[in-house]
Amino acid sequence: MNTLDKISHETMVFMRGKYKLDEIGDGKDELKFKQGSKTILTIYIREDRFTFLIIYGKKERECYELQKENFSQYIYDYYDNAKTYHDGKWMFIDVTTMEQLEEVKKLIQIKKRPNRKPFPKEGAIYSQCGQRCDLCVHYVGTTEEQRAMMIEHLDKMWGNSDWSMRCEGCYSMNCYCKDDPCNAKGCAPTKGLKECKECVEFPCIRATSADYRSMIHTEVHYADEITWGMLPYVPWQYEL
Ligand code: SF4
Ligand code: SF4
Repeated sequence: MNTLDKISHETMVFMRGKYKLDEIGDGKDELKFKQGSKTILTIYIREDRFTFLIIYGKKERECYELQKENFSQYIYDYYDNAKTYHDGKWMFIDVTTMEQLEEVKKLIQIKKRPNRKPFPKEGAIYSQCGQRCDLCVHYVGTTEEQRAMMIEHLDKMWGNSDWSMRCEGCYSMNCYCKDDPCNAKGCAPTKGLKECKECVEFPCIRATSADYRSMIHTEVHYADEITWGMLPYVPWQYEL
């Protein structure tokens, strides 16, 4: 992965792990994270960077001023030069490094406190790469009632309508990928490991549901689609 890919992936890990928000893309180059009609964050996809738009109202500006020493000159410049309109201070911040992203994450947390309620860990059953089998639509232990609720969201998330495959979990003989190992299962033995959870790189992008839906995108996915269609398949995003 190049640096922009890493920024893209880490942004989604952060936003989905911390927040339960609708992801509203424009099909071209823009992704908004929204709660109802309120936009928390807008990301513009550019060839050589991502531009994050965060708008601070009066309360957020006061909060930022109190925490100012936690930010670098890079952020000071954006903040000081941002224009303030009737609805707040519009900061368009270019991000090209992971360090800049870490600062932007702090700005986002001033904009909105994390609102993702993690699933409890009691009863958790993990796959070898850290996915939550017990929250998976395919898992044999998932009740029909739970499956019906999930399928409504999974259909939208994945554009699929057949969720009939049942699986007894990653360690079982009927795991759906036992004959054609997933990336994560294929990779661990090449490192002399039994499974990803032993790896210093865990959870890496290969050990997640790492297709383009794990990256900054321009599709439309509502918060419940992310909750049921994505997070069970991305290690640790559901857990504090
Ligand atoms: S399909 Fe994957 S995540 Fe779902 S139960 Fe089977 S091994 Fe676990
Ligand atoms: S590099 Fe990633 S896929 Fe490979 S063993 Fe480590 S965590 Fe698993």
